[in-house]
Amino acid sequence: MASPIALDEPVTRLNGVGEKVAEHLAKLRIARVGDLLFHLPLRYQDRTRLTPIGALRFGREAQIEGVVEVSQVVFGRRRALVVRIADGSGAINLRFFHFNSAQQQRLAVGRRVRCFGEVRRGPNSFEMVHPECQILAGEQPLAVDAELTPIYPTTEGLQQNRLRHLTNQALALLANVEQEAQELLPPALLQRLAMPSLREALEFVHRPPPDADIDMLAESSHPAQRRLVFEELLAYQLSLKRLREQARDFAAPTVVARALQERLLAGFGFTLTGAQRRVIDEVEADLARGLPMLRLLQGDVGAGKTAVAAAVAANMLEAGYQVALMAPTELLAEQHARTLRRWFEPLGIESMLLTSRLTKSQRKPLHARLESAEPALAVGTHALFQQDVQYGRLGLIIVDEQHRFGVEQRLALRDKGARDGFRPHQLIMTATPIPRTLAMSAYADLDVSILDELPPSRKPVRTVVLAESKRADIVARIADMVREGRQVYWVCPLIDESDVLEHQAATDTAVQLAAALPDIQVGLVHGRLPDKDKDAQMAAFARGETALLVATTVIEVGVDVPNASLMVIENAERLGLSQLHQLRGRVGRGAQHADCVLLYKPPLSQMARKRLETMRATTDGFVIADRDLELRGPGELLGTRQTGIAQFRIADLVRDAAQLRDVQATATTVLNDYPHLVDKLVQRWLADKVEYANV
Ligand code: ADP
Ligand code: MG
Repeated sequence: MASPIALDEPVTRLNGVGEKVAEHLAKLRIARVGDLLFHLPLRYQDRTRLTPIGALRFGREAQIEGVVEVSQVVFGRRRALVVRIADGSGAINLRFFHFNSAQQQRLAVGRRVRCFGEVRRGPNSFEMVHPECQILAGEQPLAVDAELTPIYPTTEGLQQNRLRHLTNQALALLANVEQEAQELLPPALLQRLAMPSLREALEFVHRPPPDADIDMLAESSHPAQRRLVFEELLAYQLSLKRLREQARDFAAPTVVARALQERLLAGFGFTLTGAQRRVIDEVEADLARGLPMLRLLQGDVGAGKTAVAAAVAANMLEAGYQVALMAPTELLAEQHARTLRRWFEPLGIESMLLTSRLTKSQRKPLHARLESAEPALAVGTHALFQQDVQYGRLGLIIVDEQHRFGVEQRLALRDKGARDGFRPHQLIMTATPIPRTLAMSAYADLDVSILDELPPSRKPVRTVVLAESKRADIVARIADMVREGRQVYWVCPLIDESDVLEHQAATDTAVQLAAALPDIQVGLVHGRLPDKDKDAQMAAFARGETALLVATTVIEVGVDVPNASLMVIENAERLGLSQLHQLRGRVGRGAQHADCVLLYKPPLSQMARKRLETMRATTDGFVIADRDLELRGPGELLGTRQTGIAQFRIADLVRDAAQLRDVQATATTVLNDYPHLVDKLVQRWLADKVEYANV
């Protein structure tokens, strides 16, 4: 007899996994047999029972059985086959928009059918649109399923049935494997946390029994699910804590220089806020310590993070080190380069801009400069950290708008400029305010500084919310405002899932506005514009040559044109609160008071109304983040795209926030009392993240 397959063997050992299927599985991060066990269902369908048609509830999925009473093609707005079935308790229509004559015949009057689908409201009664149907032969009853049907996250070309078949095999193996080998959490811990064993939890979530609470499962609040989420959060927490500890094994430049910074500040033309001064002090204390700094700087939009970054960079430069400032977009990198030139050139310090658009020959001298041990101030996109860029004396990495980068990118940076037990300092800046416990979990490897004060020059932005029927009035007002010397952003956000349409909408709007405002220079930026045009448009706006800039949400992060004092956002009801907040933060940066007009298309949903009302009522980023959490609920606020927090398999930092305290405490216990488990847990949940795997 062949030896049983071990859970850490490649999936190709299983029946039904050839090269093709293995490729599909790889896309789902499934490489080993055991990974299948941790690929958990998104949701469930209940085919374990038949629901009487008379007891169906709107919006629910259900399995029903009945006899066809009517079967006819109707010609409404769309031609459809409508089949009425009844079971004695009631009747329901099945509606098919796509059908052929064979299907029509199968669903002939008198046939007995079993269907599974979602219950919707039809013109006269409940309906199911395109349910799965099975014709029942004769009178003999058909069995129902013994378990809820799991629906797995999948990828094109990989059927649910295949995934179920494979998980069946993995579950059977799990039943054979010694329980102890799989269970990583010590019994004492499990008991204290009142959690089921790993095996119980996995068996339950993959194959829930018919009496399982499907609503609880849908909310991921079942103890079996919570157990698994807990373990994933724990693994993540442990990996970050370990990174943090490992950082202490390295040395970093000890820097106490301050003279250049003083000259820099003197040239700013403004006085630092108390919060800026405090954060600079916190960073300086780190730099004086000789250990690599890992500090997160959280500061609301417009709090003045760039000035802090520049002040800190000055210390490093003075001490003879290189500094790299990374921004998430070309637009922002360009802007930072302009700002830093303005600030540093008078001090005799050049800064260089490194983006992926530079040609090889343009890049070469910059690379050579960085490779030397000369002090240098380099600004750029992720091009700063491409393989071919070597740093001779990198002392500080600054990452701006870190929520735009993945945690993996952040970790990858640590290896740059690392040599001979030495690592550069890192300052990571973000405008996404997140609640404290969340920050502690998401950034457990970092120290946190907060800029909780806006520069006094910042004018609170007055916000009005208007239906789009008022558009013409707004356009007329813009003419007046521009005459007064003000500059305006007009934002056209995504109206569809496709970025093609977004840039089209912006282009059309620019044409319309230019026609309606013949005396005004109108600019246009969107993501599809070639980079050099994008820069030219931004630069022209920054210089005041264009008074009105039509833009997509590309201007959302970091853009700083102090003279702009009006922002109009179309289709504002489609944007989330954080995004609106980021966008609005582009105005109110200069001497004038600023306005923001949120245009919406009626009718407004309850939710959209609340969102827009929040925007009207406050400009405080933390208040807005809290409201966002309340309104949008689990999952969305901290989506990977928004925050750069690692992508979890099953956990969700917001939804599962209640577990975080236990997770943090348990991580400490594991590190102290069960250090041998750390590797195994990290391996199980994060093995495919290279940067974690080889730390
Ligand atoms: P953010 O924190 O959003 O990155 P910025 O660094 O872009 O903010 O700063 C916003 C604007 O405020 C910039 O024009 C900047 O020059 C200005 N600024 C920064 N600090 C101060 C200050 N202490 N006093 C006045 N203006 C300041
Ligand atoms: Mg910024």
